[in-house]
Amino acid sequence: MQIDIITLFPEMLESYFGQSILKRAQEADLLNIKLHQLRNHATSKHRITDEPPYGGGGGMVLKPEPLFAAVDTIVSAADGETAPKIILLTPQGKPFTQTMAAELSQAPHLVFVCGRYEGVDERVRQHLVTDEISLGDYVLTGGELGAMVIVDAVARLLPGALGAEGAAETDSHATGLLEGPHYTRPAEFQGHPVPEVLKSGHAANIKQWHREQALRRTWERRPEMLLTAELSEADRRFLAVLALESAEHLATKSSKK
Ligand code: SAM
Repeated sequence: MQIDIITLFPEMLESYFGQSILKRAQEADLLNIKLHQLRNHATSKHRITDEPPYGGGGGMVLKPEPLFAAVDTIVSAADGETAPKIILLTPQGKPFTQTMAAELSQAPHLVFVCGRYEGVDERVRQHLVTDEISLGDYVLTGGELGAMVIVDAVARLLPGALGAEGAAETDSHATGLLEGPHYTRPAEFQGHPVPEVLKSGHAANIKQWHREQALRRTWERRPEMLLTAELSEADRRFLAVLALESAEHLATKSSKK
């Protein structure tokens, strides 16, 4: 996968992409990340990339010419077989989810446009980008964190990227549920033991425990996810037990009042 990121602050991203799983994924040629300094695509004498907004209002706006030129350079250098997705990071975009990460991981080429200041000239949104993605309902100072978050979430889904370090398919949100708890050594810590089943070596029981813990955690923290999760008959029976537990808990609480 080819990833190009257009930013005024490439140094912010260099360090993150140069470590751990993302570094190894690049070394293994699973992905190639290229950072583009927006200023290098400004043709004016002082390489200006931003100007005050028409009509006033304060702040600065990223000019269209350097952004169009940067994307043009990237697209011209690409093999031309598939048009890249040109993604604008913006708090006005579609909120990023694991499902979107999975979809993006299938694309051969992603280009990220990181906004700054008041954002980008509207013509960039209208005539250059193909997708607009938001990290959430809050405002950041720039799109760089958004690009790092999305690239990270996408890269770990590329086949072979995680190696022995983890299995993306059981992660929270990958299955429509939250993942259950994890334990490691010691078997007892400050009087708190590891559940017996995990030390039993009984593969089927351990698998069932993990599934039930995932259902319990989702029920407790994000019950609305259960409306769309894929559930087996056994899952539904376990959820019925949890519902009964909750009802009993409520009844005990109100009888104590
Ligand atoms: N004036 C803009 C608005 O109200 O929509 C916000 C501009 S923000 C200060 C500067 C840049 O940070 C944006 O152009 C965008 O690239 C990035 N940004 C801020 N919040 C973001 C979010 N929630 N998700 C993705 N990118 C964000």
